[in-house]
Amino acid sequence: MQIPFFISEDFLHYVWKHKLFNLQNLTTEDGQLLQILNEGMHNHESGPDFSNAKIQIGNLTWAGNVEVHINSSDWFAHNHQNDPVYQKAILHVVWNNNKQVFDNLNNPIPTLVLNGRVSSSLLAKYDKLILNRNEIMCSDSIPSVNKFEFFSWLNRLLIERLEVKTSALQEIYSSTKGNWEQTFFIVFCKNFGFKTNQEGMMALSRNLDFKILLKNKDDLFKLESLLFGVAGFLGQEFKEEYPINLQKEYRHQKHKYNLEEIPVEFWKFGRIRPSGFPTIRLSQLANLIHIQGNLFDAYVRNIPASLDVIQSVEVSTYWNTHFTFLNPGQVKKKSLGKSAVQNLLINTVAPMMFFYGQETGSLEFRDKALDLLEKLPAENNFIIRNWAQNNIFADNAFESQSLIQLTNNYCTLKKCLNCGIGNQVLKHEVG
Ligand code: SF4
Repeated sequence: MQIPFFISEDFLHYVWKHKLFNLQNLTTEDGQLLQILNEGMHNHESGPDFSNAKIQIGNLTWAGNVEVHINSSDWFAHNHQNDPVYQKAILHVVWNNNKQVFDNLNNPIPTLVLNGRVSSSLLAKYDKLILNRNEIMCSDSIPSVNKFEFFSWLNRLLIERLEVKTSALQEIYSSTKGNWEQTFFIVFCKNFGFKTNQEGMMALSRNLDFKILLKNKDDLFKLESLLFGVAGFLGQEFKEEYPINLQKEYRHQKHKYNLEEIPVEFWKFGRIRPSGFPTIRLSQLANLIHIQGNLFDAYVRNIPASLDVIQSVEVSTYWNTHFTFLNPGQVKKKSLGKSAVQNLLINTVAPMMFFYGQETGSLEFRDKALDLLEKLPAENNFIIRNWAQNNIFADNAFESQSLIQLTNNYCTLKKCLNCGIGNQVLKHEVG
């Protein structure tokens, strides 16, 4: 029997789970009347596909597992006949019945064949969906999707995205033994390194207790000596007065706080604009701590009073004429830049607020995180541009973050059957 190539087990799971097949006069392959009382719980781990299902065959009611395959012979291909876990199967749901399946007592397992019971419109829609070469496979059908359902799905995706981010934050929080200031410092530094220097910034922030920086927050020179020193930048010979003084100061701080440098090799200068060099970022970080002190209070606990400060943060005088310690240059203003600030707010501040709200049980902070994303402009990257080409425009970061989650975790993985929009598209046809 020729099976359409687009028939997959996932599709059959979907059809069974949502009962998207003709339920009239259902019979098993041996001709007994079949009624589905409960399709069971979809199991995404190993083991039977649906558990705790309930069916009636003839006059008898059965409770147990349902296994789904394209061909019934897949039962043997998957070696279920030797696995006791599958002995509780009450029904084998297949597209094509090409081999009878037995339980361990040699009793035939009742079989339901779906081929011929699924409407041609659903098959055509699914076929079209997965054949579409556009990365957004449902692009042709999006206009038919109910807007309310579409936006509720985006809401769910945003929460999903924030929850993924918070699990990474949870690890850092545990590693700091529940220290919010240090946790935020690590996360903030990581994102302050942007793409290229995340690793170096992480290593630096893990090697430097934020309390030490806070103690020295009123003295920008000391802050720079601490940051550049632990970053490993002060281990070379200098000719200029400023780095020589930083070096001296760092020797003193190193002894006082028992500090240890990270290898300078962590830092990358290639393929980034000079204004994004790690040396410039470290000076901006020192300035930010100098102005704001406790970053966790300023950006998470007491938001939004101080969001403007980060936009205007600059570098110390020396760095106005330098990009590295060894190359003096022309005077140039080196503020963070609007898109870098937005990136930090979207990827660091909002997830941290959400996580803080989750950990402390304060819904207020979870809502503040969502509000912040709603107020920030949408990101402008190839994912968002691709959606725009398909007439879906993100109005703010809330929506762009949802679309990023959708693209990376559903569209690219072709998980249309698990997607709220895919469900709408398919059910729309069936209904
Ligand atoms: S995962 Fe959803 S949004 Fe993405 S292509 Fe499939 S149906 Fe469309």
